[in-house]
Amino acid sequence: MDSLKLIEGFDTPKISKYINSLPSQITHVRYNAVMLTMTYEYKLQPTPEQITTIEQTLDVCRSVWNFALRQRKDWCNSRKSAINACSIQSEYIISADEPFPNYHKQAKQLTEAKNQYPQLKLVHSQVLQQTLRTLDRAWDDMKNRGFGFPRFKNKYRMRSFVFPQLGKDPIRNDSIKFPKLGWIQWRQSRPLPEGFLFKQARIVRKASGYFVMLSLQLNIDVPNPMPHGHPRGLDLGYDKFVATSDGEEIKRPRFLKTMQRKLKLLQRRLKNKQKGSNNRHKLNQKIARLHQRISDTRKDWHYKLSHHLCDGAGMIFVEDINFVSWQRGMLSKQNADAGFGQFANILEWVCFRRDVYFAKVNKDGTSQTCPNCGAYTGKKTLDIRFHHCNECGYKTTRDVAASLEIRNRGITAVGQTVVENVCGLEATGSIGHDTLVGTGRSRKSASRGVGIPHFKDIEHSEVA
Ligand SMILES: [Zn+2]
Repeated sequence: MDSLKLIEGFDTPKISKYINSLPSQITHVRYNAVMLTMTYEYKLQPTPEQITTIEQTLDVCRSVWNFALRQRKDWCNSRKSAINACSIQSEYIISADEPFPNYHKQAKQLTEAKNQYPQLKLVHSQVLQQTLRTLDRAWDDMKNRGFGFPRFKNKYRMRSFVFPQLGKDPIRNDSIKFPKLGWIQWRQSRPLPEGFLFKQARIVRKASGYFVMLSLQLNIDVPNPMPHGHPRGLDLGYDKFVATSDGEEIKRPRFLKTMQRKLKLLQRRLKNKQKGSNNRHKLNQKIARLHQRISDTRKDWHYKLSHHLCDGAGMIFVEDINFVSWQRGMLSKQNADAGFGQFANILEWVCFRRDVYFAKVNKDGTSQTCPNCGAYTGKKTLDIRFHHCNECGYKTTRDVAASLEIRNRGITAVGQTVVENVCGLEATGSIGHDTLVGTGRSRKSASRGVGIPHFKDIEHSEVA
């Protein structure tokens, strides 16, 4: 427990309070082996000269990115034509034993190129290496994870660069020191937590100015919240953004939709503007500002919603969905701008901060089972919005039924007697008696996202 003192700057009263309040029969707290990494973002106030240097750095990074990408593409193109045929398009001839230009090869070339192109020397060498590394990662993601092809960048698309490390004592009260840039003033909108190590610093150009994102790493293990208290299942969807097992349904806020419509309007106007013209540039900036406002507003709403969902809950369960690809599939049908992936990440983080246990459960067929009696109710098309069980006569909306089923699966997964939490139950008042019988599996086996048996395997109490 002493290690917790190290992170006093970090908001831990909830965690320490929870550990102190653990029943005495629990003798150990499971420590998470994962180190805690957080990103703090601050607004920079650079001088005009520093702005010039930042823009210059972005420009050099952009040419390095585009050159390295061209090199990779050329290598691939030179190999796509059959050996006994000619390609219709012209391609560079690259000898057959020429190895693929991977990160190490390109980084070496970069060092050699510095003698020829002095502008490369204006930028810190590690920054350029990071650019190559990012390209390398994007390339791997394209091959292994089905992401899109890395794009060539114009000046609007190259927005940030990374210092993998800062010098000694880089932080003062009013300014922060970067290699080659010197001391830049910043607005310290919140104090930096103590006991953290700097991992890296990223300078980002946004529509509203320049920002620095500091990655901070805490070199101690932080306990994950234990399963306890009131369980709550969440069903995410397009119709309702989220439905909870306590019967609450939350829609996407209207203000996001309105802003989205406004953005569409501006984007449509782009095609009337001549490329490279001043008016087009101005309109682009207007669009960028709106983009940022939308993303800030949405993020803020995600945080508020996550805190709201944590209120009165001790455990939160969601479906084990890859939200990013799921949303991509839906996007073709609806012009939804829901940001489920971001929300899932924020929710997990807020749960951790609020000392709420968070777990993902098996996603298959959550809408095909009656949460009340466990009967199979069959597949439903998306237009069926109500759940009506023929076996037990249980009626509720489709989304709430799914969230109840998710909650049931979660309770099964943690497989434990829920520590009675009378006030929490009275406050939410949705479950009669919450003393579920454990499955006999040990607490240790209840880790995140494990394969979960069907909830019929256990006795479970009535669901309100
Ligand atoms: Zn039923």
